[in-house]
Amino acid sequence: MTSKSATRPKGVAVLGSTGSIGTTALRVLDRQRQRFRVTALTANSNAALLKEQVRKFAPEFVGMVESNADCHDAWKSGTAALVDAATREDVDIVLNAIVGVAGLDATLAALEKGKRVALANKETLVIAGDLVKKVCASGSGEVIPVDSEHSAILQCIAGRATSDIRRVVLTASGGPFRDWSKDRLETATIDDALRHPTWRMGRKISIDSATLANKALEVIEAHFLFDLPYDRIEVVVHPQSIVHSFVEFVDGSVIAQMSVPTMELPVLYALTHPERVVDDGVPPFDPIKLSPMTYEPVDHGRFPALRLGISAGIAGGAAPAVFNGANECAVAAFLAGKIRFTDIPGAISSALDKLGGLASSSREDLLAADAAARHHVKEVFKC
Ligand code: NAD
Ligand code: MG
Repeated sequence: MTSKSATRPKGVAVLGSTGSIGTTALRVLDRQRQRFRVTALTANSNAALLKEQVRKFAPEFVGMVESNADCHDAWKSGTAALVDAATREDVDIVLNAIVGVAGLDATLAALEKGKRVALANKETLVIAGDLVKKVCASGSGEVIPVDSEHSAILQCIAGRATSDIRRVVLTASGGPFRDWSKDRLETATIDDALRHPTWRMGRKISIDSATLANKALEVIEAHFLFDLPYDRIEVVVHPQSIVHSFVEFVDGSVIAQMSVPTMELPVLYALTHPERVVDDGVPPFDPIKLSPMTYEPVDHGRFPALRLGISAGIAGGAAPAVFNGANECAVAAFLAGKIRFTDIPGAISSALDKLGGLASSSREDLLAADAAARHHVKEVFKC
């Protein structure tokens, strides 16, 4: 006999529902209505799209951080709306698809309430990985990654102990500038940088993919998610984005997870893990059509942000928060036309030199490090 509660669809809060991952998640959730019910939606400022989503999913709670004239009266406003959505009784899973440090508090609050956080907002783990782990260890909250590389690692590990793993290898597409010379990179425009070869994503992560800062964030994310030291996490460029990560086990066997590049699969898996459910969101796998699959090393000379991020991760403490804050600020300045593409790693490096040793024992320390890094970048680049 199946109990009523066992068959009840799980309540899902989608934070950042109007973004690239948010809209992808709603496509998945629309197909999976028997298993999941959207009980809360939040966005930053796109009221028109949020209204459309509310009409379609009829959630109990709607939050819009920057309220404006187009918002419905019943919608909650301000940043508190994110935590309100993430901690509701009718929410079992919080899909955090907010971009940047703005996603941190909702993740922590959801975990404190014992929820599953399906985490796209990798910045949460980069800024506050130790804190997130502490909260998970002290209750029933859990983080399941949405990032495709980490979803791949989770699927490859399939419950095995960390001691069974020799190393993990994250793949990177190489971004739009994979073939660009160092000199040509000096001329990169905003449009050039946003033209990602294999993924359609939000603007911030698209720039991060072009600098490879995204891969640095992902190495730190993998360190915290899978309890692996940095010398057991590697990166290889794989331009086709079919293999999402490799896991090499201690006996030398390597397991990889593959699919055509779509975020629908890692979103779905973060909702259903450890189960797999029937879904038709991913086009069929055809190794002939998808071949050749190629691999090349990262050119750290042209893409210094990756090593900067790994050093910040190894340094620990507030250094990853400084890395992230400086990067967020520099990317915003680049997207506003205030600095050049090649200034981004310089901004990160300068912030890490000055602030990498800041204290990090609390959320407040980490947010102070984030703010200091932004302030530093703005001062140095007058942006
Ligand atoms: P996006 O810019 O398309 O969407 C961001 C969403 O967050 C929007 O709904 C926006 O309204 C909301 N938002 C932005 N600023 C906010 C704020 N200050 N407060 C509250 N809400 C805010 O970004 P995206 O590409 O969907 O990425 C979201 C997160 O997922 C990022 O952390 C990114 O690194 C990660 N991620 C994205 C992809 C992808 O394919 N797009 C893949 C892996 C991981
Ligand atoms: Mg990724």
